[in-house]
Amino acid sequence: MTGKGTVYNNYRWVVEWHTPNSALISTVTNVLYTGRTKYQDVEIAINEDMGKMLILDGKLQSAERDEFIYHEMLVHPALITHGNPESVLVIGGGEGGTLREILRYGSVKEVVMVDIDGEVVEACKRYLPEVHRGSFDDPRARMVIADGRKFVEEAGKKFDAIVVDVTDPTEDGPSRFLYTIEFYRAAASKLTEGGVLVTQATSTFYNLDAFSLIVNTMDKVFPHVRGYQASIPSFISDWGFSLGSMAMDPAGISGDEASTRARRLGIGGLRYYEARRHPHYFWLPPYVREALDDETGISMDESPAAIF
Ligand code: SAM
Repeated sequence: MTGKGTVYNNYRWVVEWHTPNSALISTVTNVLYTGRTKYQDVEIAINEDMGKMLILDGKLQSAERDEFIYHEMLVHPALITHGNPESVLVIGGGEGGTLREILRYGSVKEVVMVDIDGEVVEACKRYLPEVHRGSFDDPRARMVIADGRKFVEEAGKKFDAIVVDVTDPTEDGPSRFLYTIEFYRAAASKLTEGGVLVTQATSTFYNLDAFSLIVNTMDKVFPHVRGYQASIPSFISDWGFSLGSMAMDPAGISGDEASTRARRLGIGGLRYYEARRHPHYFWLPPYVREALDDETGISMDESPAAIF
């Protein structure tokens, strides 16, 4: 088996390389979609344990069984920190799971979702209804097919929250300029007062260097930045997120306050994020904290954060 990961043996296996030395092998009972778009290889396949899986360029993006952990933890710490989000920009987010979580907020009037790859979005609309649950049809949602970096730089309006749900920063992938200081500066200038930006920030185990680089880079732009993580079984790892805020320190919001906000905003029935635990999510284990404390690097367009 060679390459970063693809479907082998008449679609009986999916091999996902985490590093050049470790890979996860999953059996596949059914391949729903396979193709090559202008930007990436796309597979949607079923594994008996994890359900439907979206795989881009050999990397698992989400699995039906535990996507709620990823999508809830990407969206809710940020929107609860904001407290009253009305306009939200999603960059990436092809499956529609991020859109679904944002649309739970009664306060939200408009979500613009900008994904570079219309073919991925169409495949997800068709084959992953369990994930998007009709979110693309919500009248508050507007889909734009474009590069997220360009969209942000040219945006004529500001947003209360920007949620960056793009593929990992790989050397030749389409998302690498969405993890740089130039991008964060452009995005911060498109946030309203009290605005927040959250991004997925790779594995805090396999890619701790990239995680700390992303958090440190955001720290140079936003008044408050907190890294946090959640364990995601299908990623075989704790997964990192980085949250930048123009006004409130995300960790300064008590569990009681977060619960009050969640009730007011109509957020209930979640399966992973608990408002009463809100500040505790930012309490990282010592080895991750140390990596953040020691980090001095900045991800820049000329040398962006990159993982295998
Ligand atoms: N959960 C994921 C993960 O852990 O990597 C991210 C999921 S989401 C499917 C990733 C999306 O980012 C894809 O639909 C892809 O097309 C989109 N994307 C990649 N580069 C982008 C860019 N430059 N602008 C907008 N969307 C982009």
